[in-house]
Amino acid sequence: MVTMENIQQRLGVLACPICHKNEFSLRIKSENPDGENVYTAMCAGCRYTFPVSTEIMLYQLSNPDIVSWLKGFPCPKCGICEAEMDFRCTVTVRESRLFLRCKSCLFEFNEVMAAEAYE
Ligand SMILES: [Zn+2]
Ligand SMILES: [Zn+2]
Repeated sequence: MVTMENIQQRLGVLACPICHKNEFSLRIKSENPDGENVYTAMCAGCRYTFPVSTEIMLYQLSNPDIVSWLKGFPCPKCGICEAEMDFRCTVTVRESRLFLRCKSCLFEFNEVMAAEAYE
């Protein structure tokens, strides 16, 4: 399971859609006993906020396409198609970002999911 520290650190790859800073603070919005939490990320520059969610099971249940997409998605490092999702965030209404981890070599990477892709 991903920790808040890990999420915060990995959010550093994103640029704020408003001010393009890449520093975000993370707060727990709702905590689930089964470990699937929803967070709010806030830009350190302009205080723009967006949701970050570790609710992967529920998300995959309602988006079965994502599951098959993940299965066919090669790891950028080792090329093996065995990525699993750690968390996702909705940066803007048009852009979701999936944070993935390769099951084989544990390489962490992320992919942009355009809203149209899973409609
Ligand atoms: Zn900002
Ligand atoms: Zn890999």
